[in-house]
Amino acid sequence: MSNCAIVGINWGDEGKGRMVDLVTEGYDVVVRYQGGGNAGHTVINEKGKFALHLLPSGIFRAGVVNVLGNGVALDCESLWTEIQDVAAKGVSVTPENLKISDRASLLLPWHRELDGLEEARLADKKYGSTKQGIAPFYSDKYQKKTVMAGELLYPERLRAHLADLLEWKNLTLERVYGAEPWTMERLMAWVADYGEKIKPYLCDTGAFLRQAQADGKNILFEAQLGALRDLDFGIYPYTTSSNAVAAYAPVGSGLPSAKLDEIIGVVKAYSSCVGEGPFTCEWSGEKADKLREAGAEYGAKTGRPRRVGPIDLVATRYGVQCQGATNIALTKLDVLSYMTEIPICARYEVDGHQTDAFPFPALLPEAKPIETTMPGWNCDISSARKWEDLPEAAQKYVEYIEREIGCHIGYVSVGPEREAIIVR
Ligand code: GDP
Repeated sequence: MSNCAIVGINWGDEGKGRMVDLVTEGYDVVVRYQGGGNAGHTVINEKGKFALHLLPSGIFRAGVVNVLGNGVALDCESLWTEIQDVAAKGVSVTPENLKISDRASLLLPWHRELDGLEEARLADKKYGSTKQGIAPFYSDKYQKKTVMAGELLYPERLRAHLADLLEWKNLTLERVYGAEPWTMERLMAWVADYGEKIKPYLCDTGAFLRQAQADGKNILFEAQLGALRDLDFGIYPYTTSSNAVAAYAPVGSGLPSAKLDEIIGVVKAYSSCVGEGPFTCEWSGEKADKLREAGAEYGAKTGRPRRVGPIDLVATRYGVQCQGATNIALTKLDVLSYMTEIPICARYEVDGHQTDAFPFPALLPEAKPIETTMPGWNCDISSARKWEDLPEAAQKYVEYIEREIGCHIGYVSVGPEREAIIVR
């Protein structure tokens, strides 16, 4: 039996989805433990190209049971669309291969609405939310003002609970934002539609996972976003509203006693970031456009152009530490092949001093990147499948990053396809 978490080291979009898709071969269960439908994992395999938002990436493997744990923001609407989308490409999602925790809280339709209203109120001070309702959802969850998915199984109690919440929520909608109030009819119609659709998948996933553990099954924990977007350890307030770090995996999955044997941290060979907030290594102008094009850096959920820059060793080292990574997957090395010199953000300058330490969030806007370069390889590496196939300059780049971040790089990916990977 072994437990493994696959997590992002940076700002998200590191390529976690493709790593989970690859690694699931050796696992029986894949669990998503936090976040909602606000980010996208892109997976390309023999069944096609998929952008997963809430479904665990193990959904493509026969025999793998996928779990949405109690820590996720259960957006029934977005989940249902996703189930339909993958089904249209021949991937069947049934209560046998998808189990949803009855303790996952429901993202209610007003959460999405409130997200949009608050971003509009903030205007040029907005957080860059994907407007999927994640921040209003988690604030309500921690205020105990939403419902658990399992309540769908008890309609009478659910109705009474929702009536209380509706009364409370309308105070905010009407008095704070001057918006239309919700009605019970509209809310119950939503429940009758989407609630009914996800009901067959609900169960006590905690009991399921405990049994899987007792049976010696291999469990994979899948994160959304990266360490720098973690609510507690990231670039607050430009973080997500949940804990993306591996340490939260046992709690958010429903198996609080789980020990993680391996933590695979996913790092991109350069940096990208979606949304607002400090991004010290950011490039602008033509060189940014070129890197964005080469890496096809457009949001999987929103299509927004991502901000890009060179690999940031300061942020990456910090991310590795926050995650407690035991192994690193360095993705998208092929994207850098067009460069004659490979840029690296090696240190920051904060307050006139150079530093290797990732600054406290309030100091980040003043941090300046100190860049160095290494020789490029300037040839196509996308067909490399063994370490020896990589040009020496590419090997040296990987080894340099490995030394600087203090963690073994066990995987190097050179293309988006499942097989475009070197295992070291
Ligand atoms: P995730 O949310 O961390 O899974 O990352 P995303 O799916 O948002 O972004 C990763 C993107 O890079 C996807 O479009 C992948 O298909 C693509 N990708 C992953 N690995 C590689 C790679 O090694 N090379 C190239 N060129 N693309 C890759």
